[in-house]
Amino acid sequence: MSFNALGLSTPILDAIQQQGYETPSPIQQQAIPAVLEGRDVMAAAQTGTGKTAGFTLPILERLSKGPSPKANQARALILTPTRELAAQVADSVATYGQHLPLKSTVVFGGVKINPQMMRLRGGVDILIATPGRLLDLHSQNAVKFDQLEILVLDEADRMLDMGFIHDLKRIARLLPKDRQNLLFSATFSNDIRKLAQSFVQDPVEISVTPRNSTAETVAQQVYPVDKNRKSALLIHLIQEHKWFQVLVFSRTKHGANRLTRQLETKGIHAAAIHGNKSQAARTRALSEFKDGKIQVLVATDIAARGLDIDQLPQVINFDLPNVAEDYVHRIGRTGRAGATGEAISLVSADEIKQLSDIENLIQKQIPRHIEDGFEPETDLPETRLNHRPKKPKKPKKPKKPKVPQDQTSDEGDANGRPSNKKPAPSRRRKPASNRKPPQNRSGQNPSGKRPNRSPKNTQH
Ligand code: AMP
Repeated sequence: MSFNALGLSTPILDAIQQQGYETPSPIQQQAIPAVLEGRDVMAAAQTGTGKTAGFTLPILERLSKGPSPKANQARALILTPTRELAAQVADSVATYGQHLPLKSTVVFGGVKINPQMMRLRGGVDILIATPGRLLDLHSQNAVKFDQLEILVLDEADRMLDMGFIHDLKRIARLLPKDRQNLLFSATFSNDIRKLAQSFVQDPVEISVTPRNSTAETVAQQVYPVDKNRKSALLIHLIQEHKWFQVLVFSRTKHGANRLTRQLETKGIHAAAIHGNKSQAARTRALSEFKDGKIQVLVATDIAARGLDIDQLPQVINFDLPNVAEDYVHRIGRTGRAGATGEAISLVSADEIKQLSDIENLIQKQIPRHIEDGFEPETDLPETRLNHRPKKPKKPKKPKKPKVPQDQTSDEGDANGRPSNKKPAPSRRRKPASNRKPPQNRSGQNPSGKRPNRSPKNTQH
């Protein structure tokens, strides 16, 4: 399939071509037509699958055909859990929309609010925001939603992990009920399904990687090692293999700082990126890493969420995450867009529980390698996989009618996998087919171009 077959107009196709994309990724093939049709979408997709273009391209297409925003209004709102992800989505919107006369801007906390208020004054077609700052701006009348047509929740699972549920509910109450909703999440837990019930209506459901699976293109390895030798092993591996661009995950901010100092003392240029760092420091570290000025970026899970670094060959788990799903997110940083990558976990005996949770989540034992000179004194026992329970077979002819056992949950099976049941339709909104298509301001401009708008005016 080619991008031409998806119903996108020339300015967008030109931008895609300039990016060098040849074929739409699986999520793009499914999401783009659904969004163009005006359907709500609920998609299970990790970072690295091309999900950002999956929602950005059709949103640009739809918005290019509607009326321009009035003062302080936003026509599409993309909510992300972190500032870094917001900035990256904003970059994608600017890149893919470069030939369209649409305005976009990004707002997040940790930086001055006034410049953001100024940028919102003239209204924007696409607003990318983190929830807290968006609410601040709204409370100061800097942003209004009377013209809002589309809401995107990006990395919804992480928004819930980060405690944004109340902010999300508050934001939803501020938006027009008749709108298109797109929800993207790396995993679909029961909590996400509950959230979806109040946000999306009769959605097209898309899943591009089996839930909680790891990409086939990532070679995973566990290096058993004693805890006090992890830094030495990491330094040895970086020097031995001459790794150049390495993303290292640390469970704690403190650990990330300490490791960065240890690497620096060995002449390995490193920077830490975590929640205690100012936004400016985080942005600088990321861009220096992308430019190759920094060899090792040490990140905590939250800071690393959504980092878009093309073809990152190495991801190292300096310690394992407490939440097994974070392992899947972490190693999603490598092997992106079909490239092969390597994810190495340095695991000490005290992390056996985390390792076992991860191996049970991904349903495979990760191959182990003991590095010469770093043999652990304390063994790391092998994980026994608890195979996921199979559905019990229905008895053909039960002699006695059985009392149904557990029919309490319709949100998923014991593993949190989605049930086939669709979320109950909310009463908020008309079905997509009854919704008005985006209106052309003049009503006579089927080309999708806006004659009266100024040339590209993307604001950042
Ligand atoms: P995402 O999952 O949105 O974070 O995108 C992951 C990476 O894939 C980004 O670096 C995109 O530039 C790249 N990408 C997105 N769509 C395509 C495509 N159709 N072909 C090749 N690369 C793509």
